[in-house]
Amino acid sequence: MSSFPKPVPPERQPAGMVPELVLKALPDDERVWVPMGDQVWFRPLLLNSVEGYWTSLLRVRAAGVVSCHRHPAPVHGYVIKGKWRYLEHDWVATEGSYVFEPPGETHTLVVDEDCQEMITWFLVSGSMLYMDENGNINGFSDVFQRIELCRNHYIKVGLGADFVNQFIR
Ligand code: FE
Repeated sequence: MSSFPKPVPPERQPAGMVPELVLKALPDDERVWVPMGDQVWFRPLLLNSVEGYWTSLLRVRAAGVVSCHRHPAPVHGYVIKGKWRYLEHDWVATEGSYVFEPPGETHTLVVDEDCQEMITWFLVSGSMLYMDENGNINGFSDVFQRIELCRNHYIKVGLGADFVNQFIR
């Protein structure tokens, strides 16, 4: 008969490690969703200021658009709800889909009228470079910009400037 394993004693955890993060990914409080534009919201999960990436849920309701941008570093995604597509590709990401986007991916995300709401988990490394119709960069996101965006939103909705800190490592 095997015995039930004992937990590793706390002193065996390495010194200096940062705290783990366990969240209810879909929050009960609507204010946790940070508006990103018309019909587009962002729910931070981990904002990694050491490795320069962030993981979050993206929520887009019909007929929302995430304007054209380039990813200089890879993106991973998992569709939790609904469906969406890129104008630049002929595939549709549907509930349960895993998506890998290689560095260089340049795309425009759309949710069509036949989908009320999509929610997708994304891991985005580095930055997003927003582009105009001529391919000129006219804006960017990185983890620090996301932290600032969250902080400003949480101040505005009454959760406070420190609310975002729980997501930062
Ligand atoms: Fe993208």
